[in-house]
Amino acid sequence: MDTKRRRIMNDNINVIGAGLAGCECAYQIAKRGIKVNLFDMKPHKFSPAHKNNNLCELVCSNSFKAQKTDSAAGLLKEELRVLDSLILKCADKTSVPAGGALAVDREKFSELVTKEILNHPLINFKTQEITDIDYDDINIIATGPLTSDALANKISDLCEGFLSFFDAAAPIVTFESIDMDFAFWGSRYGKGDASSYLNCPLDEETYKFFYNELIGAQRAPVHGFDVLNPKVYEGCMPVEVAALRGIDTLRYGPMKPVGLKNPKEGKRSYAVVQLRRENKEGTLYNMVGFQTNLKFSEQTRVFGIVPALKNLEIVRYGVMHRNTFINSPKLLYPTYQFKTNQKLFFAGQITGTEGYIESVSSGFIAGINATKIFQNKSAVVFPKETVMGALANYISDENIKNFQPMGANLGILPNFEPEIKNKQLRHESFAKRSLSIIKT
Ligand SMILES: Cc1cc2nc3c(=O)[nH]c(=O)nc-3n(C[C@H](O)[C@H](O)[C@H](O)COP(=O)(O)OP(=O)(O)OC[C@H]3O[C@@H](n4cnc5c(N)ncnc54)[C@H](O)[C@@H]3O)c2cc1C
Repeated sequence: MDTKRRRIMNDNINVIGAGLAGCECAYQIAKRGIKVNLFDMKPHKFSPAHKNNNLCELVCSNSFKAQKTDSAAGLLKEELRVLDSLILKCADKTSVPAGGALAVDREKFSELVTKEILNHPLINFKTQEITDIDYDDINIIATGPLTSDALANKISDLCEGFLSFFDAAAPIVTFESIDMDFAFWGSRYGKGDASSYLNCPLDEETYKFFYNELIGAQRAPVHGFDVLNPKVYEGCMPVEVAALRGIDTLRYGPMKPVGLKNPKEGKRSYAVVQLRRENKEGTLYNMVGFQTNLKFSEQTRVFGIVPALKNLEIVRYGVMHRNTFINSPKLLYPTYQFKTNQKLFFAGQITGTEGYIESVSSGFIAGINATKIFQNKSAVVFPKETVMGALANYISDENIKNFQPMGANLGILPNFEPEIKNKQLRHESFAKRSLSIIKT
């Protein structure tokens, strides 16, 4: 690291990356009276998706999703509003009509955030690509899914390989949406805990229909790498690309029925989609081997052909894109501190809190906790009953294997005891519980 940068860092907290997470983080620190150095490589250098000179750029959609607090996205935004989030304030001021969603005029939104940041007397913004990790001062790394290569390599060294450069994710579905009249429990050949796997069988006719719909389904544009090039992406081929090799390829791959006796039929099924338990509570299940690049609406349509999944609710769609993220369950506390150096924080999509507002949420919590550490106080863990806390808990949950980034969803909130059966009432109760905690 150059000496010039080190000199200006005394008595400051450093935030690296001025995107959704970094801007919120810097603002929360400055709001508490502490000087911040905020670094971004823009406009000196741009990632493949960033184009605008302003900070806090929205690289794709201009939507921050649903507004109503009976949805996870709506509740997360309301939590942040109540807590005085800079990003939510700017989003509300620059919103455009979008039905039940909060969408913004992206230019005006970024302009306003940039103005607030640059005019803040305690925030010192510097255009600079950071290429190394500083272990001496308090630092928050919020460089996002397209972190520049030099820094990504340093993070990879620090994380001892627990860093992914690409996201090849299979959909994650809610347990509640699986039709148990068609699914059955069981691990292959009876090995391990049967309750870890749910199997969704298909007969020959349904499989053939599913297969044809899958290979003909619409795919999303790919950002940053070639999914068809096995040199780049060995072992992580999208299910729809693997299917192109032949009608039975999936029956010998992710949909193989061997070692799984369907108790409803007393025999092996023609093909099976296996779902693996995703969280301790068993509210979320991952479609094993179904990494996909289909458009989101096509994932719901095509995977919904599987009888047990006909009502499927996907909380995290399958994606294939460049996405730099660390293996947070191994590396981070729910305070967003790095376990082996508690002056080092990560925030934003690089931690696996996926999505614009989810990144804001982790930036907010990292900012509060960096302030606490600066003041020699203990860091705080946000309550799991809030979406902000549930996300922090999820990404740092050591029980999670094969970690993939996660967006806000109500499946990660703890249920009520006894469980509220009515879905609408349950979701409204989640909101009431969370907001009463946030407001106290
Ligand atoms: C192609 C693409 C499309 C997406 N579409 C959506 C979408 O529609 N909706 C959604 O919710 N999410 C979307 N995402 C996810 C999205 O990136 C995150 O939701 C959000 O932008 C992450 O916020 P962040 O603050 O972590 O990172 P970013 O907003 O990306 O901010 C990171 C900042 O760090 C800077 N930076 C990087 N490396 C360095 C370095 N070494 N030194 C200094 N500065 C550096 C960058 O210039 C950037 O300004 C998309 C991601 C990608 C890659």
